[in-house]
Order: sequence, then structure tokens, then C-alpha cells
Amino acid sequence: MKVYCPSCKKTVEWADTSPFRPFCSKNCQLIDLGEWADEQKTIPCGPSKDAETSQLPDIEDIEALLSQQGDDFFNN
Ligand SMILES: [Zn+2]
Repeated sequence: MKVYCPSCKKTVEWADTSPFRPFCSKNCQLIDLGEWADEQKTIPCGPSKDAETSQLPDIEDIEALLSQQGDDFFNN
């Protein structure tokens, strides 16, 4: 059975002789892992990053609500 290396599209024998399968080499495996890591960086879905991004808008919403309620209070 042969597969295509996801990084360079070379044919790779799906056997014990290809320890980095489906990649043709360790280099291609590292390239793919690097691209995967880059994608992870662009998407803010890490455990700590997610908490930061989900909390910040909430605080802004609360502040906006408070200021709106304050305006209503003074207008009434
Ligand atoms: Zn390759």
C-alpha cells in the first residue's frame, strides 16, 4: 500500500520501512506539525487564551450596561 506524503506529495510505502508515514521523512512530519502549530496560534482556542477572550467582552458588556442604566437613571 502506498500513500502520498501530506507535505510534499511524494509516494510513501505504508510499511515499517517508513517510520514517518504518512510522511516521507521526519522533515516533512515536522513541517506538517509546524503548520498545525501555526494554525493553532491564529485561532484563540487555547485554555488560557479562551478564558481571556471570553471574559473581556463580558466585562465590556457589563460596563456598557451599567453606563446605559446610569444614563436611564439620570434621565428619569
Ligand atoms: Zn514528504
